[in-house]
Amino acid sequence: MPYCPNCNAAVDDGALLCSACGADFGPESAWHPGSSVDRASHSLTYVVGKSMLYLGYGLLTLAWLVSCVGSRKSGLAVLIGFSASLILIPVVVLGHVLVAYSHKTTGDPTAS
Ligand SMILES: [Zn+2]
Repeated sequence: MPYCPNCNAAVDDGALLCSACGADFGPESAWHPGSSVDRASHSLTYVVGKSMLYLGYGLLTLAWLVSCVGSRKSGLAVLIGFSASLILIPVVVLGHVLVAYSHKTTGDPTAS
């Protein structure tokens, strides 16, 4: 059963309009109903990607703070902050890739 990318309501195969929210699935529209399989993989990829982004940016900010504040006292804080940044940057990049991939697979123009 396909799902509406706007409101997640089940829609009929080949439907041109969502009966729940009125979203347009016509040939001119960017919205197309996704299958339930696409939807499951979309939400998992999207949630994992977004989690990595928030976690990555949050910890990256913390790492920079630690290295800036701690640098007055010892070089160890700078080393820890720098090492953490090296680990976190790939996490953030992968998060962006996962979120972009989840958008591409569903073609939902409203997701952010
Ligand atoms: Zn809808």
